[in-house]
Amino acid sequence: MTKYEQIFENNRQWVAEHKANDALFFERLAGGQQPEYLYIGCSDSRVPTNEIMGLGAGEVFVHRNIANLVVNADLNVMSVINYAVRHLQVRHIVVCGHYQCGGVKAAMQSEDLGILNPWLRNIRDVYRLHKEELNLITDEAQRYDRLVELNVQEQCINVIKTAAVQQSYIKDGYPTVHGWVFDIHNGLLKDLKIDFEHILHEIQEIYDLTGQGVKINK
Ligand SMILES: [Zn+2]
Repeated sequence: MTKYEQIFENNRQWVAEHKANDALFFERLAGGQQPEYLYIGCSDSRVPTNEIMGLGAGEVFVHRNIANLVVNADLNVMSVINYAVRHLQVRHIVVCGHYQCGGVKAAMQSEDLGILNPWLRNIRDVYRLHKEELNLITDEAQRYDRLVELNVQEQCINVIKTAAVQQSYIKDGYPTVHGWVFDIHNGLLKDLKIDFEHILHEIQEIYDLTGQGVKINK
């Protein structure tokens, strides 16, 4: 059996295991989804979303791209956020970066990367916003690690800027937005503990899309 064919064998085993544990598993899956989480992460193959969160089918709505970016003109990520918030009514949105991110590293090279230039430019913008802090870190590996964290933080802010998140939070009190980093060296998730309420208040000075002209009430 080739590696490719093995995938279908794996799949049949996966089906059999789930049916053995729960005869109605796939009936329920076909019935619809109600995930509590939206996960926005990097496409890197070393960060398997469901596995690291210990969640199964139907439990997390997923969007992945190079370097887990939330770009306001990207119809793809904006559609995912909009659908997850307005229709699935997810309670939590997670932006998850990871150390050793090739996208983050590539963004900081003095090199023309073609079609990747406009995409990775967003990471250079993160660097520019946090230049003072980053330039003080003399160890290059540590500087990249910090840039990974700051990139997650900035992408969380971009999620909070969306009308869907602002409006849903005022109306229903959710979703809240979280920033995580997956540590490829030990497999652990690190919660950056971004201050969602504080960021929401801060950005609403300029990015308020609630149409109410009021601050969020706790
Ligand atoms: Zn990555």
